[in-house]
Amino acid sequence: MLPDKSKFLLLLCCILSLGFIATNMVGYFVARDSLSKQISGDTLPLIGDNIYSEIQRDLLKPIVISSVMANDTFLRDWVLAGEENPHRIQRYLKKIQDSYQTVTSFFISDATLTYYHSSGILKTLSQHNEADQWYFDAKNMTASHEINVDFDPSAASQLTVFINYKVFDAKGKFLGITGVGLALSAVRELIEDYQYKYHREVFFVDKKAQLTLHGTQVPKGTVPGHNIIGADIEQKIINTDRSSFNYQQDSQQIYIDSRFIEEFNWYLIVRQTDEYLQGSIFDSLLVNLLISLVITAVVLTFSWRTLSGYQQQLEKMAITDKLTGLNNRQMLEPVLEQLFKLSSRHNYQLSAAVLDIDNFKTINDQYGHPFGDKVLVAVAELIRDLTRESDVLCRWGGEEFLILMPNCSSADAHSFACKVQQQLATSSFDIEQRKINIELSIGISQKEHEDKAEYLIFRADQALLSAKRAGRNTIVVN
Ligand code: GH3
Ligand code: MG
Ligand code: MG
Repeated sequence: MLPDKSKFLLLLCCILSLGFIATNMVGYFVARDSLSKQISGDTLPLIGDNIYSEIQRDLLKPIVISSVMANDTFLRDWVLAGEENPHRIQRYLKKIQDSYQTVTSFFISDATLTYYHSSGILKTLSQHNEADQWYFDAKNMTASHEINVDFDPSAASQLTVFINYKVFDAKGKFLGITGVGLALSAVRELIEDYQYKYHREVFFVDKKAQLTLHGTQVPKGTVPGHNIIGADIEQKIINTDRSSFNYQQDSQQIYIDSRFIEEFNWYLIVRQTDEYLQGSIFDSLLVNLLISLVITAVVLTFSWRTLSGYQQQLEKMAITDKLTGLNNRQMLEPVLEQLFKLSSRHNYQLSAAVLDIDNFKTINDQYGHPFGDKVLVAVAELIRDLTRESDVLCRWGGEEFLILMPNCSSADAHSFACKVQQQLATSSFDIEQRKINIELSIGISQKEHEDKAEYLIFRADQALLSAKRAGRNTIVVN
C-alpha cells in the first residue's frame, strides 16, 4: 500500500510540476514576445518622436540661424560691394553670436578666402592647409548646408559643432560659407540629457552609417567615424527614412528606432536593449515558479494526509470484524506467528482459547438472524471486558471467538474460561425486551516446545470439540 501511495504522490508531483512549469514557461515566452513587439512597434518609435521633437527645439535652431545668415541681404551686399570695412561684418557676426548664444559665428569669403569671425579676421584659408580642407569640401557639396564637428580656429582646443551654410548671390553665384557653431561638449550634454530622460541610447550616424555625434560616452559597440555594427543593420537604417527593428546580439535583444533628419543630413538613432525588462520578466517567472512550488507542496501534503487517513481506515477495516468490532481472523494469523516466536525467544507461556456459543443456531431460528447478531455483539463485549490488555481477542468464525493469551499457562486460561462462563451464567442478556441465557463451550491449549503455531489452535479446536461432545457449557484443556 505504502509504495502505491508514494507512487501516486510521485505521479501527482510530476503532473503538477510539469503543468506548472509548462504554463509558466509559455507565459514567460508570450510575455517576452509581446514585450518585444511592444518595444519595436510602440514604445521605441514613440520615444524616438519625443527625442526628435526635443532635437528640433534644441539643435535645429542653429541651422535656422545659419540659414537666415546665408540669406541675409546685408551679408550678400557687403560681399558683392568688395568686403570693405571688415568691422561691419565683425559687428554683424558678434550680434548673431550674442543674440543666439552660440560659441562662434563666421563667414568665409570665396573671393578672398578670408575667415571673418565675431572677434575680427582670423586668417586667410589655403587649399594647402589640411585644417582648411573642410571649406573646400563644403564648397563642393551638393547640399545647401552641412554639420561638421571640428576644432574651432578661434578657440583651438575646443571641439565645435559647425553649421556650414553656402551663401549665393541673387544670380546663384557662390559667395562663401557662413554659419554658427555650438560647443560639442554642450551638444553632448544635450544628448546626454535625452538619454537620461528617456533611458535610451541616443546618437547620430551619417548616410554611410558612420557614427557622427553622441553623448558624453561613446555608444557601446561603436567607434566615432566608423560604421556601426553589421552591414545588414546599417542597410536597414540607411535604406529608409524611418525604421524600427530589433536583432539579437550577445544573447541580448537590441532594439533600434532610426529616422533621417534632413536638416542634419544624419540619422537619429534611438537604441535600447531589453536587459532590464527581460530581467523583470525573468524575476516574475521565478516568483511564479516559487508560488507553483508552494502550491505543489501544499497539494502533496494535503493529498499525503488524506491518503494516509484513508489508508489507516482501510487497514483498520481489513483487520476488524464489522459486526462485533473485534479483530477478525486476518489480523490474528500474523499476530499468532509473532507471539509464538516471542514466547520461544523469551521463554514465556502462551495459551489459546476457542469459545463457541452453544446451540446458537436455535437462537437464530427462534428469534431471527438480526436478533442473533445482537447476541453475538453482547457476548463479544462480555468477553472483551474480561480479557487482559496483553490478550489478543478475535472473532474466529460465525459464533466462535479465539483468545491468544501470552504469559498465561493453560491453568490460568482455564480460570479465565471459568470466569467467562460464570459471568455469562450470572448476567442474563436483555435483548429486544427478551431475557436470554447464553452458554459457551471452551477449548484450551498451551504452547509446547515443539509446537507449530497452527498446531496450538488445532489443539484448542480439538478441546472445544471434546467440550461439545461432553455436553456443552464445558471447558476442556488439551
Ligand atoms: P453448537 O452448540 O454445536 O455449536 O451448535 P450451534 O448451533 O451453535 O452450531 P452450528 O455450527 O450448528 O451453527 C452455528 C450457527 O451460527 C449457524 C449460523 O447461521 C450462525 N451464524 C454464523 N454467523 C452468524 C452471524 O454473523 N450472525 C448470526 N445471527 N448468526 C450466525
Ligand atoms: Mg460453531
Ligand atoms: Mg455453536
